[in-house]
Amino acid sequence: MMQTILPLPTIQNWDCHTCGTCCKEYLVTVSPGEAKRIVDQAWTKEELGGLEPLRITGGWFSKKTVLNHKSDGSCVFLDDGGRCKIHAKHGYDSKPLPCKLFPFILIPTGRGWSVGMRYACPSASASLGRPMPEHLVDLRKFAEELLVREAMPTNELGTCAKVTPPLVEGNPGLEWEKVFAMAKGLTIPLLDREVPLGLRMFRVFHLASDLRKAKLTNLETIKIEELCTILAKHLPASVTASNRDQTAKPNWIGRVLFRQLAAICLRKDHGPNRGVADQGRLALLGAAWAFVQGKGSVPKMHKWLPEADFRLGEEAVEALPMEVERIFERYYLMKLGSLQFCGPTFFNMPFWEGIDLTLLIYSVQMWLYRILKNAMSETEAAQKALSIVDDHYGFNRVLGTFRQRLAYQILGATNQIERLVAWYGR
Ligand code: SF4
Repeated sequence: MMQTILPLPTIQNWDCHTCGTCCKEYLVTVSPGEAKRIVDQAWTKEELGGLEPLRITGGWFSKKTVLNHKSDGSCVFLDDGGRCKIHAKHGYDSKPLPCKLFPFILIPTGRGWSVGMRYACPSASASLGRPMPEHLVDLRKFAEELLVREAMPTNELGTCAKVTPPLVEGNPGLEWEKVFAMAKGLTIPLLDREVPLGLRMFRVFHLASDLRKAKLTNLETIKIEELCTILAKHLPASVTASNRDQTAKPNWIGRVLFRQLAAICLRKDHGPNRGVADQGRLALLGAAWAFVQGKGSVPKMHKWLPEADFRLGEEAVEALPMEVERIFERYYLMKLGSLQFCGPTFFNMPFWEGIDLTLLIYSVQMWLYRILKNAMSETEAAQKALSIVDDHYGFNRVLGTFRQRLAYQILGATNQIERLVAWYGR
């Protein structure tokens, strides 16, 4: 059955520019059907530099088949010109689904697929290529393939039968229309280009806080939309730049938990951009301790990190250049608008917990932007900050562990999320 793709945003462009980053950085898991297709393609060892096309990885209970990798970590099918050998010899459709789908993310909503984006792809973070709506035909095909590949249950609309994420843990989910209405409502402050991005994100935090207090479960969708509009309309009067500047600095708990989150979001252990992980576990332990202390040089958890002192990340920035504002604005409009921040594509997190983590991720990106812009252009620093951190957004399981979720709750309960958004948005 033809799959429904929900309206695609026009703010984001993309096309593959064959940089090969994804083929060097990720381990691609293949389904039994895709593994058989590759075996049937009868690759010889001569064609693959003496290597097998596939290998089994994982522990006793988590065995999976992946595309084999060369000693430098790149995919066994990546040729010297940065092209895929499967694509070149057997055509685009013969590639495993994850390779075709990247950097798009299909988010099942029960009434169609919402589409998110992975900014670990440099073309996505720089918004290079055709507007997203021009990828509609491919996205429909990917959604059909994904349903079959993952044996997903379907509903009466023939699309993936997914339940909505709850607002908070343990509560029943709202209807999809309401979830979209709330997510869309949260983007209202982001669209106000009259004020700097830092203040817009501070207002997103406050709008979320106000909405959390409302009894949304009993409201109709149209009432939720009206409520978001009314609350957002009053924000400019009640949440000002001076409120933000007078917000207290994050306290030591906030700073330690924030830096611990930053360390997780910077860490690169695989591929050509891996950082201190290259030097072994002891070096990683030393780096983790440096992040707890927050003094001296920032350990190179990722190869793109320049030499920098922790103090640099705490300095206020002059107004962000327009181009940089647009980069971050696009990123957060995409994350909120696509619902990538909660549910099945985000550690099965409830709606509000996903918003909390997204606001914390914003703080990490702004901290990282400060570090990077000292060594490169501001635009490049913004794009790299997105790429580095987004690599983990919804994909690094550590971010969804019990321990981390407890950390976000502590940060929320002690008002540190508000302080962090204010501090790094200034
Ligand atoms: S990282 Fe993006 S641009 Fe580079 S090869 Fe992969 S999909 Fe193409």
